[in-house]
Amino acid sequence: MSRRKPRPKSPAAPARVQAHAVRPEGPCPCGPPDAYAECCGRFHTGAATAPTAERLMRSRYSAFVVHDEPYLLRTWAPATRPRSVDFDPDTRWTGLEIEGTADGTLFHTTGTVTFTARYTHRGEPGALRERSRFEKADGRWVYVDGTFDED
Ligand SMILES: [Zn+2]
Repeated sequence: MSRRKPRPKSPAAPARVQAHAVRPEGPCPCGPPDAYAECCGRFHTGAATAPTAERLMRSRYSAFVVHDEPYLLRTWAPATRPRSVDFDPDTRWTGLEIEGTADGTLFHTTGTVTFTARYTHRGEPGALRERSRFEKADGRWVYVDGTFDED
């Protein structure tokens, strides 16, 4: 291991990829008029845990918007969890539509959520449609995997 000299910091160069700016009092990226802090923000901070698979799905979408990697990893089932999450700097998530849910309530241990997430990639609009599977582990919903198609 060799130590590299730290690079001089330039105020013009952001240290890392800039996440989509979301203010606590601003609208939540997942869609409802609720403030981010009251909607997905309280799950991201750990103040609360998502009570249903759909709420977890929404909060994970919002975590992609704000680049909250720790939240995405801790809400991923250990069996399918990646080592890290790559945020594509050219992709900007622009909206989420929940199309359907099956199970995934307080009374279930598994659930599925079908949704379309819209984005722009280098200015080109696109959509990702996914049917995600969730399970409850130690009383908390986690993401297992999904089948998806992109157009
Ligand atoms: Zn939200």
